[in-house]
Amino acid sequence: MKFYCFVLFMIVSVLGLSAPVQAGARDQAVGSYTKGKLKNASQLKQSGPGYVLLFPHRDRAYGTDDLIETVETVAEDLAARFPEGERLQVGDTSARQGGFISGHASHQNGLDVDFGYFRMNHQEQEFNWSTLFPDFTALGFDEEFVIGGKLSSNFDLQRNWELFKALVSTTKINRIFVDQVIKASLCTYSRSIDDFSVETLRHLRPWPKHGDHIHVRLLCPASSTNCAQQEPVAAGSGCDELGIE
Ligand SMILES: [Zn+2]
Repeated sequence: MKFYCFVLFMIVSVLGLSAPVQAGARDQAVGSYTKGKLKNASQLKQSGPGYVLLFPHRDRAYGTDDLIETVETVAEDLAARFPEGERLQVGDTSARQGGFISGHASHQNGLDVDFGYFRMNHQEQEFNWSTLFPDFTALGFDEEFVIGGKLSSNFDLQRNWELFKALVSTTKINRIFVDQVIKASLCTYSRSIDDFSVETLRHLRPWPKHGDHIHVRLLCPASSTNCAQQEPVAAGSGCDELGIE
């Protein structure tokens, strides 16, 4: 009996039938942003139309299809509308199979991505050789845009606002973390240009330590049946909570 089982096993193995079905398998965000995994991930290229990866050597540019598509689509859109500007600078997304990565509490299930803010001087961050060494606790964004509680004059209000609107218009965004001074500035700016988009503003969540980068979090894709969705952002722009009517 054992022998027949062995023969059967060999036949199945040779035919490849025992291998798990991988070809065409869908991407899966599993668990939560802070305790999760990622299966059948897509990978962002080192650069593409309108974007550049800041830390490609870290090998943390994996995500769900939705995440990779969103980055590519939004970056290309912004570059087409503002061709004179610098590219969207993309930080970490997730490891190939998700899980904990140093320097981040979340980024575990392929739905989180960090971006640098757009800059008035259109300078891209210089490649920082120190990031080659394993001090990964530093995120490595090289410019702070909130200094002494005030927005830096190098913060490009127009392009950052257009970036946030483009992201939210995909309807795939759960929330976007930014420094509260930045959110307050966008409340005022959007009002001043008669473009006060409650839908965009309500997705911007004020969060400490986000004066040098944007953290974008996508919704669980419908096809990721084991993905734990974070509660939706509250209704309303949230600008009143920051003292801006
Ligand atoms: Zn982040």
